Amino acid sequence: MRKPVIAGNWKMYKLLDEAVQTALALKPLVANANHCDVIIAPVFTALKTIADRLEGSNVMVSGQDCSTQNEFGAHTGEVTAGMLKDVGCSYVIIAHSERRQLYGETDESANRKVKAALAADVRPIYCIGELLAEREAGRAESVVETQLNGGLQGLTPANMERIIIAYEPVWAIGTGKTATPEQAQEMHGYIRRKVEDGHGRSVADSMRILYGGSVKPENIAELMAQPDVDGALVGGASLEAESFSRIVNYK
Ligand code: PEP
Repeated sequence: MRKPVIAGNWKMYKLLDEAVQTALALKPLVANANHCDVIIAPVFTALKTIADRLEGSNVMVSGQDCSTQNEFGAHTGEVTAGMLKDVGCSYVIIAHSERRQLYGETDESANRKVKAALAADVRPIYCIGELLAEREAGRAESVVETQLNGGLQGLTPANMERIIIAYEPVWAIGTGKTATPEQAQEMHGYIRRKVEDGHGRSVADSMRILYGGSVKPENIAELMAQPDVDGALVGGASLEAESFSRIVNYK
C-alpha cells in the first residue's frame, strides 16, 4: 500500500563531473525499479545539471536543505525551496542530524522549512533521530516524539500526505553500526502511532517512514522486511552507483 522510497544523500561529496557520472551510471542500473521511488540528493551546485540529465528517468532529485522562507531577500548563502523546484528538485531533506548537530537546526526552524517546502510544492524528507546518550538514557522515544511534534506542527492532513519521515538514529549514521531490524521496527511503529495520535489513522497508514544509518546492500533486505520500514535514506553507500543500485534493487 505504501510505495517504498530509497533515497541517497550525497552530503558534501563530489565535484560536478563526478556527480554527473555517478547519476548517469545509476540511471540504467535502477531503470526497472518500479517497486520504489528512487531519489538522489547531490550538493546544490550539481542539482541543475543532474536534474537535466535525469529528466524522463525514474530517478528524482532532492536538495539537502532549504531556507525557512520562500520570499527572495537579503539572506546570503540561503536557497529557497522554490529555487530547488526551479532547477528540477521534487524533494528536499530537512533537519538531517548533521544540520541539527553542526549548523544549529532546531525543530522550530525545521518546521518553518517544512512549511516553506510544501508551499513551493517540494516534498520534505523530514529527519528525526536520537543520540546514543539519549538512547542509553532510555529517552529515545521521547526525543523522537518531540522532534516529530515540533517539526510537523501545524500541518494539515493534505500537507502530511506530501511528507516523508526519515528515522535516523544518530549513533548509526556513518558509523557502520546499523540499528537491528527489530530496533528499527520498534521505533518506526512508535513513530507511526504518534503520527496517528496527532494526525489520524489514514495519514499514519499512508506515511512513508524511512530508516537511515549505515544502510548497505547487505542489510537493506532485512530492514525492508519490517512492516513499518518503508524505505531508506542512505549516505555512504549511495555515493557509488553500483552499491546504491543494489540497495534500490533489494527485492
Ligand atoms: C545519512 O547521511 O543520512 C546516512 C544515514 O548516512 P550513512 O548511510 O552513511 O550512515
